[in-house]
Amino acid sequence: MKKRLSGLLVLLALALCGCTEKDTPQSWDQSAETPSTATVFAMDTVMDLTVYGGDEELLGQAEERILELEGLFSVTSETSELHTLNQEGAAVLSEDTAQLLRRGLDLCGRTGGALDLSIYPLVRAWGFTTGAYRIPEEQERAALLERVDYTQIRVQDSEASIPSGMEVDLGSVAKGYTGDALEELLRAGGVTSALLNLGGNVQALGSKPDGSPWRIGIQDPEGESYLGVLELNDQAAITSGSYERFFVGEDGNTYWHIIDPATGAPAVSGLTSVTIVGDSGLTCDALSTALFVMGLDRAVEFWRQSEDFETILITEDGGIYVTEGLEGSFSLAEGEGSREMTVVRR
Ligand code: AMP
Ligand code: MG
Repeated sequence: MKKRLSGLLVLLALALCGCTEKDTPQSWDQSAETPSTATVFAMDTVMDLTVYGGDEELLGQAEERILELEGLFSVTSETSELHTLNQEGAAVLSEDTAQLLRRGLDLCGRTGGALDLSIYPLVRAWGFTTGAYRIPEEQERAALLERVDYTQIRVQDSEASIPSGMEVDLGSVAKGYTGDALEELLRAGGVTSALLNLGGNVQALGSKPDGSPWRIGIQDPEGESYLGVLELNDQAAITSGSYERFFVGEDGNTYWHIIDPATGAPAVSGLTSVTIVGDSGLTCDALSTALFVMGLDRAVEFWRQSEDFETILITEDGGIYVTEGLEGSFSLAEGEGSREMTVVRR
């Protein structure tokens, strides 16, 4: 499985988060300046937590919370609530899983099914769960798509049910929910400044201790470096990209992990990367996947009808489209200045 860039993004975010001495104002309380950090491997990715003004105990609680949520949401672990739902067709859910499923389903509806939490049979058929990659024939895809329809997932209070043959995958939204949950936990613990990098899904709590914004690298889908820098205060910035997880098939074509529910195949939408910036990690995570499926025109139209996010869209031919709310906070990296950047207006 190729995940060549998520690690790089983690490093970039850390390198850009400005935890360097030269950024530290002399008058600032040095004890508050030293962050507590933790690295956790969960949800199939490396998570880096950089927390100012928290203690080791709080960081330990954050790590435990990540592992707790992974234990609930994992589609592969045989002890997860999701596994029970997929195997039994019904399950009594914890408040976290019920809430994630409920809000995730709302976002499936809002995106007109570009996000579909019941896509799992296709994700597995392409080998993205096991690493046994293959290209399913159209007939097989059509048969599996019969089992895909998020409108048939029922959640009533803590009880959920799905039709026989259906399987739910929370991979498109789990990290966003986790970011929100960590933010809540850290805030309750008195933290006002933290950067949570959940494998390239970044959640910023407040700003840097000196009051300046966090600086996040936006990966160049075509290269090994980042193409721009995004300044972020108190928001999530979540990216879905075709470069994040992919394989090259025997036919020489590249296939990635974001599936178009209309075809059952990796979404060939003309986009290579979608970053969503907004207050809710869960919403940003859901929309990064969905707007990738939609493609540039539909994504821009969707943004125009929405008020809760901004976006950076990168196309196959290298175009960079930034919605107007990010005009002042996104800038091309040094050396990328010759690339064309279009500001999308309402
Ligand atoms: P993300 O990295 O947040 O874009 O999520 C991608 C993951 O979500 C994939 O690895 C699949 O597990 C799952 N997925 C792929 N396509 C879709 C889709 N159209 N709707 C919902 N989940 C999807
Ligand atoms: Mg997502």
